[in-house]
Amino acid sequence: MGNIAAIVGRPNVGKSTLFNRLTESRSAIVNEESGVTRDRLYGKSIWNGLEFSVVDTGGYAVGSEDVFEEEIRKQVLIAIEEADVILFMLDVTTGITDYDEMVADLLRRSKKKVLVVVNKVDNPERLADASYFYSLGVEELFSVSSINGSGTGELLDRLVELFPSTENVEDLDIPRFAVVGRPNAGKSSIINAFIGEDRNIVTPISGTTRDSIYTRYNKFGYDFYLVDTAGVRKKSKVFEDLEFYSVMRAIRAIENSDVCLLMIDATRGVESQDQKIFQLIQRNKKGIVVLVNKWDLVEKDTMTTKKYEEDIRNKFAPFVDFPIVFTSVITKQRIHKALEMAAVVFENKTRRISTSKLNEAMQKVVLDNPPPSTKGKYIKIKYIMQLPTNTPAFAFFCNLPQYVHEPYKRFLENKLRKLYDFTGVPVQIFMRKK
Ligand code: GDP
Ligand code: GDP
Repeated sequence: MGNIAAIVGRPNVGKSTLFNRLTESRSAIVNEESGVTRDRLYGKSIWNGLEFSVVDTGGYAVGSEDVFEEEIRKQVLIAIEEADVILFMLDVTTGITDYDEMVADLLRRSKKKVLVVVNKVDNPERLADASYFYSLGVEELFSVSSINGSGTGELLDRLVELFPSTENVEDLDIPRFAVVGRPNAGKSSIINAFIGEDRNIVTPISGTTRDSIYTRYNKFGYDFYLVDTAGVRKKSKVFEDLEFYSVMRAIRAIENSDVCLLMIDATRGVESQDQKIFQLIQRNKKGIVVLVNKWDLVEKDTMTTKKYEEDIRNKFAPFVDFPIVFTSVITKQRIHKALEMAAVVFENKTRRISTSKLNEAMQKVVLDNPPPSTKGKYIKIKYIMQLPTNTPAFAFFCNLPQYVHEPYKRFLENKLRKLYDFTGVPVQIFMRKK
């Protein structure tokens, strides 16, 4: 779980070109992210059947033409801390610069798995030049051209080999919760409230490559894993204010979870960083509970929660079917409720509807509201089934799947949400040829 590759290197070596190449095909094939804007920094890729995340560390550069040494240094250090494998990118046309040396030095001192990628090797002449980069003291080089794609297959073969494949959770029936949100929202505080002073830890499980990803708790009658608790508690003063850092941390926690508790600071409301994290949760198809924390600091009249809820759903639209809990860690308000809702969402996420029940209910729906005919073609849905996936996904078998459009799929999704409770959970609809 949590296969994260980060591309590092100084500006102009071709990081974002490689990033686009690795993530493009994926989003073209799986066109299910409607309503989710494409991210310059974070994308999903798949190779040899393995899905993984790609992060372009340059995506958060400030004033990309003149990124200071310090900026690159920080990005590399964050990538070392948060990624599973690092793609260290160099440019064959420029040779090794001082910045490259600096990055190489940081990576050498870390124990991270690093693949050295020499980019812009567009032709055989440049291939000869690429061997010059062995002078960095590395054993293996990957010569690629991010522009024409040559060499990227070999790179990907090696990359997917390096990901830690083991799922280090003992019992998959027990939900994994992650608390995510921007700095200062109250994540550490609520985790401490969950855990309590006694830290009623059942089993600390250490990850294969990182320190303790999951810790198992048995609290308030709930049995669950908290993801990356050590990471949330152990803050890095140096990086804390960097958006890039908090996003990297969120990615890692989200990928390793089943349900995310997205914590919002009530005194600030929903801001772009919250929206970004919300989208990351959605793109990873995880369950979601929104916690509006520091509720004790908000002046209340009778309309406040309603207005607040509305505002939050508007800002996170089009996905609006998720629970919102108003918490205060300071006054211990609804801490228990937060866990309770996370447990409910987990249940919703793992719900399985039998094929006979599903067809009984949904056949009537599609008979009463058939898909609109397109180009004079009449579409007939014959058969429906839930797919054996980790998040609810439904296949509608029909004669002309290509003629069923987004609005009708959304209609089906909403019907399914009404019939069966999928609150807090992304639901996917696929039209398949039958
Ligand atoms: P970043 O700053 O590291 O993200 O670099 P970019 O991806 O923005 O690329 C910088 C420049 O190098 C752009 O003009 C790209 O078109 C160019 N570039 C990237 N990859 C290649 C490549 O494989 N071959 C060639 N010839 N140019 C490339
Ligand atoms: P993190 O960065 O998300 O882990 O946030 P912290 O848990 O460190 O909390 C940031 C600050 O907000 C700390 O000073 C907390 O005491 C304070 N805080 C957290 N939750 C609440 C709350 O519900 N109400 C109030 N008034 N303050 C809170």
